[in-house]
Amino acid sequence: MRFSGRSALVTGAAGGIGAAIARQLRAEGARVAVADRDTGGIEAEAHLPGDLLDPAYADGLAGAARAALDGLDIVINNAGVITRGPVTETTDADWSLSLGVNVEAPFRICRAAIPLMAATGGGAIVNVSSCWGGKAPGPNHAVYCMTKAAIASLTQCMAMDHAHQGIRVNAVCPNEVNTPMLRTGFARRGFDPDTAVAELGRTVPLGRIAEPEDISDVALFLASDAARYVCGALVEINGGKAVA
Ligand code: NAD
Repeated sequence: MRFSGRSALVTGAAGGIGAAIARQLRAEGARVAVADRDTGGIEAEAHLPGDLLDPAYADGLAGAARAALDGLDIVINNAGVITRGPVTETTDADWSLSLGVNVEAPFRICRAAIPLMAATGGGAIVNVSSCWGGKAPGPNHAVYCMTKAAIASLTQCMAMDHAHQGIRVNAVCPNEVNTPMLRTGFARRGFDPDTAVAELGRTVPLGRIAEPEDISDVALFLASDAARYVCGALVEINGGKAVA
């Protein structure tokens, strides 16, 4: 029960990776506030539904979580969207959506959370970047990769600037993960998701793509006291399939 007495906010908690993180934090003793567009049916100590594209909602999430849980020790910025294509096929709507959810919302949440956490001695923030951002971009997802590089950079900047307040900021950088984000992408492009996931798994040295728990285990390590000297790290979780 390494998170007993800790309070955590998890965004994107209705999705594949976010649900695993929220479930595992609670299983290990944390009190958890879940945020997503629809949080119905998620087991948690507090439900904070809303749209992260709404600046007032994103600005208020950390305070709302602290009020609901009577504390805030851990923030997991996990919510994300993926848009595909090179810049020449990227619409204004894709741009606003990607920047809004993947970069602006975590910026707003961290800006509000850091002073709250500092006032009670510190805490841990874990951002969900991607191997396509933490390390190098991949093809045909220009704006997605750029947003994941932006959150990786923001992670390193915040880690440097707020370590002295007892706040550790780190990011996980997954490669492919078996979640609705990946599966709906396959379905939209006319592939059977199970077949496509199995084929993709054969390109990974460990023989399969990640399951959400492969990512949540590392996110929880970074949020835990075992990672007390880890600050500003971008941790690749890729089954041995490194990007160039
Ligand atoms: P997912 O689609 O299952 O979950 C994402 C969640 O974010 C959803 O529940 C969605 O409702 C929420 N969300 C999106 N826009 C929102 C908004 N405007 N307001 C509130 N909530 C919103 O995807 P996932 O694969 O679990 O992704 C989680 C994170 O992992 C994302 O940041 C993603 O970029 C990252 N990631 C995923 C993969 C992968 O292969 N699945 C790889 C690398 C990184």
